[in-house]
Amino acid sequence: MFSTMSKLFAPGMDLRASGKQYESTEPISALVASKQQTLNKVDYPRKLNISRNLLQTISSDFFSALTGIVELDISDNRLKLIEPGLAQLPHLTTIDLRGNSLHTLPDDFPQCSSLEEVNLGENALEAFPIALFSMPNLKKVYLASNKITKLPSEIKKMTSLEVLFLGDNRLSALPDEIAELANLGSLTVSHNQLTSVPLAVCEMHNLVSLQLHNNRLETLPPALLQMVSLHEISLRNNPLVSRFVREHVDEVPSLGELAARAVRNGGVSYSSENLPPLLVAYLDSSQRCDNPACRGVYFHTSYKQVKFVDFCGKYRIPFLHYLCSPQCHQAVPGHSSAFSGQSQSSNDDTGDESEQERRKMRRVLLPLT
Ligand SMILES: [Zn+2]
Repeated sequence: MFSTMSKLFAPGMDLRASGKQYESTEPISALVASKQQTLNKVDYPRKLNISRNLLQTISSDFFSALTGIVELDISDNRLKLIEPGLAQLPHLTTIDLRGNSLHTLPDDFPQCSSLEEVNLGENALEAFPIALFSMPNLKKVYLASNKITKLPSEIKKMTSLEVLFLGDNRLSALPDEIAELANLGSLTVSHNQLTSVPLAVCEMHNLVSLQLHNNRLETLPPALLQMVSLHEISLRNNPLVSRFVREHVDEVPSLGELAARAVRNGGVSYSSENLPPLLVAYLDSSQRCDNPACRGVYFHTSYKQVKFVDFCGKYRIPFLHYLCSPQCHQAVPGHSSAFSGQSQSSNDDTGDESEQERRKMRRVLLPLT
């Protein structure tokens, strides 16, 4: 009997008490105690999910029964306060506190040194929780949908940080010190009030994803285009994008350009022996169409096409493409997947495709002042 139970609730067992209408932690503590009574007392739950209850506070006593806990989900309760005691959880790596009413974190939160991931989204935080600055191993921080107005310069202390999610807050600026987060791969500051992106961001050599949609950006630092690591950037619903669309007009190519395109596209041979040097130079200045499935060229008159691409909409990246004709993307079979699907599979890109991606990245919407 014992061996069967032991197998069912071996170390690493999950304990779920989600959606039970609990108003206090007492019945949950009793549940944990009874599980441990039934089992070998050494077997503590490793994961505890007490989300979707009616808890208003977490008492210190509660933590003392959970010393082996690794993952704790207290999301979607009514917490306004967590009493000190988290430091009693020396193995805690993940805590989910989203969907509560927290204004602050307990004093001993910093001592929770094993913590790697914390979700504080959808709470009532008005300031970035300074307790997080003291956690040396913190890799992922989610603070979506709070009321945070400022990102303190102390953010630079969070040197292990890989993911920082600050979407839907009240940030009007980012500090230069954010560039000191050398391991940060994903920065989300969409749905804020940013009017600019600090040049320092361009020094973040491991930044892969930068989410800036729904802000007040008028320009971007051009050095952003030099960032080799950056594969995803979203800019939808910023003034710089809206203005581009409003002011954009397509021009019609001249007859001279059309003739030159025919020469280049048709592979007609020419040299300085049969053409004037100026014409040779002109023919040599052709630009390859950005449509990877098109082998066409253009000279002065290209057709600019902006793809708005991000996580919220149906596109992900707002590239500015230069096409040989307005019909180019429709005329070439397979073009659609080549354009809109390319970045989804960037991990298994061939060398050529990576180069292509980098080339497109350089064409991401530039400051339009
Ligand atoms: Zn083309």
